[in-house]
Amino acid sequence: MAERVIPLVDQRVAALRASVPEQAIPASGLLVDSLGRPLRDLRISVTDRCNFRCSYCMPKEVFDKNYPYLPHASLLTFEEITRLAKQFVAHGVQKIRLTGGEPLLRKNIEILIEQLAQLRTVEGEPLDITLTTNGSLLARKARALKAAGLQRVTVSLDGLDDTVFRSMNDVDFPVAEVLAGIEAAREAGLGPIKLNMVVKRGTNDHEILTMARHFKGTGVVLRFIEYMDVGATNGWRMDEVMPSAEVVARIHAELPLVQLEPSAPGETAERWGYADGGGEIGVISSVTHAFCGECNRARLSTEGQLYLCLFATQGHDLKSLLRAGASDADIASAIGHIWHGRSDRYSELRATLAPDTGTGQRRVEMSYIGG
Ligand code: SAM
Ligand code: SF4
Ligand code: SF4
Repeated sequence: MAERVIPLVDQRVAALRASVPEQAIPASGLLVDSLGRPLRDLRISVTDRCNFRCSYCMPKEVFDKNYPYLPHASLLTFEEITRLAKQFVAHGVQKIRLTGGEPLLRKNIEILIEQLAQLRTVEGEPLDITLTTNGSLLARKARALKAAGLQRVTVSLDGLDDTVFRSMNDVDFPVAEVLAGIEAAREAGLGPIKLNMVVKRGTNDHEILTMARHFKGTGVVLRFIEYMDVGATNGWRMDEVMPSAEVVARIHAELPLVQLEPSAPGETAERWGYADGGGEIGVISSVTHAFCGECNRARLSTEGQLYLCLFATQGHDLKSLLRAGASDADIASAIGHIWHGRSDRYSELRATLAPDTGTGQRRVEMSYIGG
């Protein structure tokens, strides 16, 4: 009988205690880590559950009916999320992305969006609030999300070939319904819409051009993501990674491209425009071209742990601090203290690190801390 993979509960529980430093660290709108990187972007995972089983993220063999998802009481409430987010914003966060798991599975997510939409940056501006979704529930929810204050969405879609897509999401979900979700988002005004396509060599790389042709000239910004070694369950192999340079070359051969300037510091995607003015695409080269030097992203897990890197093995437990009655000033200090100590730059070091096996330090799953 095949051995069952051990559920990944351990590292979720074994978070580092978030402590309040003796010397207060008041929020000043600029918080830099030990490598001089400011905190600007907060990704909040609102659920560790998903209705898809993409093999690169939540493989069925691990995320089956016995998988110990977080119990409801462990999840941060919307009020707790908003209270934490407020302190992050006071430290300089300008952009919040809701993710998961599948964020649209979280009941009443619109209420959280309404609360977050009330926050203002230190300059008094509204936040840039967005959400990454697999699109399966978007046709139903797009209007309510917009009304709640969501500005735009990123939808994940790994191909237009129905057979390929159904097999990649591994729950037989049809392309047509995701396309309907994208259309609903456009009609609701949730734009500019970005589309994430994870490219796995030998699985969906033949869909690169089909996707580029389909979305060229539509205003949708298609972004090709290198298949990453996140988590510890997806069986990642370097030979399945298609370097972004190859993706760009393939598209350029048929649809000439010119490189564009980055839209913001710390932007993960390298931008390319169609030479004939038919819009732009992006490539996210997390494997072949590390962008840790400008990484300004913090991640808040579903149960309130702060992660400083997508590839971290441990988070910092902010929920316990909250639930122990910490004041806003204490929370701001704790966040400041944690960010000051940040030195993570996994992608830059990837080539020199030992594989993620047998160390007892499993990396967290992407479905837990969000993409
Ligand atoms: N369920 C939502 C979705 O799929 O859009 C949000 C969460 S998902 C973890 C966020 C993004 O991470 C998606 O665009 C997904 O394609 C991407 N992703 C997940 N696993 C990945 C991997 N191993 N390599 C690269 N991207 C990955
Ligand atoms: Fe679910 Fe998104 Fe992960 Fe796919 S990538 S399994 S849709 S969380
Ligand atoms: Fe940021 Fe970590 Fe990714 Fe580097 S590896 S870009 S530090 S999340």
